[in-house]
Amino acid sequence: MDSVDLSLMASSTLPLSVLSRGIGFKGPSLLTTMPVPRGQRGIQRHVGQEAKPALIVVDIQRDFCPGGALPVTDGDKIIPAVNKLVGAFEKAGLPIFFTRDWHPSNHVSFKANGGPWPPHCVRNTPGASFHPSLAVADGAVVIDKGTLQSEDAYSGFQGTDLARKLHNIGVKRIYVAGLATDYCVKNTVLDGAAQGFETYVLTDCVRGVNLKRTDSATALRAMLSRGAMQTTSGRLLKSLVLRPTISYPSR
Ligand SMILES: [Zn+2]
Repeated sequence: MDSVDLSLMASSTLPLSVLSRGIGFKGPSLLTTMPVPRGQRGIQRHVGQEAKPALIVVDIQRDFCPGGALPVTDGDKIIPAVNKLVGAFEKAGLPIFFTRDWHPSNHVSFKANGGPWPPHCVRNTPGASFHPSLAVADGAVVIDKGTLQSEDAYSGFQGTDLARKLHNIGVKRIYVAGLATDYCVKNTVLDGAAQGFETYVLTDCVRGVNLKRTDSATALRAMLSRGAMQTTSGRLLKSLVLRPTISYPSR
């Protein structure tokens, strides 16, 4: 059940009022008033909980976009859709986190130090800055990762306080966008799911490196098989519009 696209299933089998819970509507559980048919128990588990959502935007930095030191093909093409989500989360008062690769200049992941990658995202250099087209929301939290010389971190959770920050503000569900599908998005999604967050990968808001042509598809399969779900920015935006009046505790 975890690997099913819940938003798609909900939109085709449940009334609109249930769909609106898809991003964590607060209020009395519909489950107390509406029987859930056998076979939809997975939905019951999800919609029956309060699930405050957060948006996690992974590593949309200059070096990972065309023209950068370690570019993802069409990495910048996701930015308009990501910006729409950032705007919608901001408007709804929902938390947004931006991760960034933030390496020392002699980082272990660089080829000169025996790693697999060219130098990239060296902290406080232009290549490490967010892409200039990315709308970094006021009040958004920036999570730096890979900050130690001797340790790489593909996941936004690895060696950071992201999980603690999410727990502190009551986030139960995360939506993950960014770069790259087959590395930092994948590992952030896997860690999010492993740590008990309802974790969605936004399939139209990610792009992969694809050293092998099939790497992104393989990564998506791994995410879905290990507890994550997939949705799109369009579906997420629709569900945000359906419940504009929710108020959550402040961040
Ligand atoms: Zn890196």
